[in-house]
Amino acid sequence: MSIVSTVLNEFQAQFTGEPEGIWEAPGRVNLIGEHTDYNAGLVLPIALPQRTYVAIRRREDRKLRFVSVGMEASQPLNLDEVEPGKPSSWERYPVGVIWALEEAGYPMPGVEAAFISEVPVGSGLSSSAAIEGAIAAAMSDLCNLGLLADDEGRATLANICQRAENHIAQAPTGGMDQAASLRSHEGYALNLDCSDASVRHVPFQLEEAGLALLVIDTQAPHSHTTGEYGRRRADCEQACAQLGFDTLREITPEMLEPLLPRLSNDRLRARVRHVVTETERVRLAVLAMEANDFAELGRLFVDSHASMRDDYEISCPELDQAVVTALECGALGARMTGGGFGGSAIALVYTQSLDSTRAAIGEAFAARGFSAPQFLIAQAGPPAQRTEY
Ligand code: ADP
Ligand code: MG
Repeated sequence: MSIVSTVLNEFQAQFTGEPEGIWEAPGRVNLIGEHTDYNAGLVLPIALPQRTYVAIRRREDRKLRFVSVGMEASQPLNLDEVEPGKPSSWERYPVGVIWALEEAGYPMPGVEAAFISEVPVGSGLSSSAAIEGAIAAAMSDLCNLGLLADDEGRATLANICQRAENHIAQAPTGGMDQAASLRSHEGYALNLDCSDASVRHVPFQLEEAGLALLVIDTQAPHSHTTGEYGRRRADCEQACAQLGFDTLREITPEMLEPLLPRLSNDRLRARVRHVVTETERVRLAVLAMEANDFAELGRLFVDSHASMRDDYEISCPELDQAVVTALECGALGARMTGGGFGGSAIALVYTQSLDSTRAAIGEAFAARGFSAPQFLIAQAGPPAQRTEY
């Protein structure tokens, strides 16, 4: 049975009758530019072909009833009861989007909705932005907000989804994931400048070069709501305060070395070095992709991983192993992707080496007693949209 039929059946079984429609939004994989979004820097994600779908119908009252295939059923709640930290289980993501839409001035009805995700949940591929984007797209269409019609409206929805994640789900993430899910173009990577939310679409076609982007889901658990992510943000804020800047984006690569001695300790120096050099690597990666220089793109991946491992300290043994083995198998580059502390890595691999690379990573993980990794090939898919069925 297709995924769309499955979510439709789930809706009918839970709520009886038909939904008003089905909407979908993608997960994302970030090519390069990690922990730069909340520092007003550059990021370069692609939307994945893997999506989260929602079958949904408005209600006459303000009740919110959500189910998700494979997840525990949530308690129905009234829109007026929503507040930071409430609800506390998975439905806080879609509930938060409806709350944030209303807070942004768009009156919302109650809804009943069934979700299903092809995006691996909690693997650093942003199933959270996918579930947010799916319901945001649905509410825009159902309430005639017209926000899917152009990039400006999609940027508004992305902000609303980020507010939901920050305030109701209470995950202190930046805005990259939601922008990737809502504002990407099929076949292109999204070069988002988080200082002004402007975007540039960069062609992402690896097939002609005989390459593929292998995603290695390490199965090492990660969570943005645990303290490490917030501690990295706090380090960046502290560094800004010590240097007298509003954001770390104000530091150009040339300014970096003379400024570092002014910071109070080596940890802050390393954090700032990562953030500043990472945005510069995104800028260079865009130039490399536009020149079809994939060897250079691969080198930038390798430098990015070292920076995240050593300076930002967000890698873990599974991610490091995935990167090392991919490079040993001839990948042009490899790096962890997403927030870190587990989740996924990516590798730029020649198509003919895909099988041997996957096998070698699986063997290396087994030898170290890690969980078996999962793999997918990432292509640049379309953004959130209504699903025709
Ligand atoms: P990631 O975004 O990398 O997958 P997060 O920790 O940011 O990881 O988000 C995962 C959380 O999002 C899940 O624990 C769950 O609460 C929620 N979530 C994501 N997708 C779904 C879904 N399809 N159904 C229910 N909850 C989901
Ligand atoms: Mg997430």
